[in-house]
Amino acid sequence: MKPARFEYLAPTSVEEAVSLLVEGGEDAKLLAGGQSLVPLMNLRLAQPSVLIDLNKVEGISSITESEDAVVIGSMARHRAVAESEVVRRFLPLLAESAGHIGYPAIRARGTIGGSIAHADPVSEFPCACLCLHAEFVLTGPAGTRQVRAEDFFVSYLTTALSPDEILTEVRFPKPSPGLGWGFLELARKTGDFALAAVAATVALSPDGTCSEASIAVAGGGDRPLRMVEAETMLKGNQGDDVIARAATAAATSSNPPSDIHSSGDFRRQMIEVLTRRVLTAAWGNARRGE
Ligand SMILES: Cc1cc2nc3c(=O)[nH]c(=O)nc-3n(C[C@H](O)[C@H](O)[C@H](O)COP(=O)(O)OP(=O)(O)OC[C@H]3O[C@@H](n4cnc5c(N)ncnc54)[C@H](O)[C@@H]3O)c2cc1C
Repeated sequence: MKPARFEYLAPTSVEEAVSLLVEGGEDAKLLAGGQSLVPLMNLRLAQPSVLIDLNKVEGISSITESEDAVVIGSMARHRAVAESEVVRRFLPLLAESAGHIGYPAIRARGTIGGSIAHADPVSEFPCACLCLHAEFVLTGPAGTRQVRAEDFFVSYLTTALSPDEILTEVRFPKPSPGLGWGFLELARKTGDFALAAVAATVALSPDGTCSEASIAVAGGGDRPLRMVEAETMLKGNQGDDVIARAATAAATSSNPPSDIHSSGDFRRQMIEVLTRRVLTAAWGNARRGE
């Protein structure tokens, strides 16, 4: 299939892109890596009359660190995130999650901003962003605003982005030293979309009990989900029993859909298994201070 006719525009600055988006109105769409949008256009499930290509926009693809944050431009490719020294050092969970996205060709073109804006509930980056307390910088005609990952994902393929806004930056607070982490997913084969994925971080007190935990699940509902009940169960505790109970709580709090790839019940069981394994891994590397 070929896409319906569209006008192609290639701005070189964020300001220009925003004003083209405002001019284009409801019929305009941003093009980032094109790895989700172009297949939808080819199938004519999306028929924008104006396509605003972000690939020539300057200043939105770098990966930098400040004193307290890692800042990733929205046009950073999945592969750049996976291979970045800064990301691997401060956000190894994010680097690990990037390596699970699709195939090498997809990772060479797809962008972190496109993945977050597309908001597929089984996608790796939205889940990792939720777990790592990311904030998204949205730029529109009235300036910029920052939205926490927790408030950004609304439902299936739906976010807090307004039609005239561009996601320009993803900001991650630098984690405290020694934070344990884990990321695991189950897919039918390497490169497929996940049936379910779980990301977790764990901080330990000197006595070995959990002082802080963050757990996020992909494939557990219509958006990535934080597992607050499971996190609360972990705090002040340690041991395999509490990890198992937290994993059961994560599965119970999920409401995974049934589709051609898997039943909801199977996904729920896998969320329990993955959560238990991810928490065990996170606890282990927190204990070793990795
Ligand atoms: C074969 C295949 C396998 C894949 N496997 C996976 C997988 O396992 N896991 C996974 O997560 N993804 C997977 N993907 C999707 C891939 O990760 C996409 O790259 C990603 O979902 C979208 O990023 P993009 O840069 O390609 O965005 P595009 O496709 O260009 O855009 C996607 C949507 O986001 C909007 N958008 C893009 N950038 C911005 C921005 N900066 N601000 C506001 N809106 C914006 C666009 O208007 C569009 O609506 C796969 C894709 C293919 C084709």
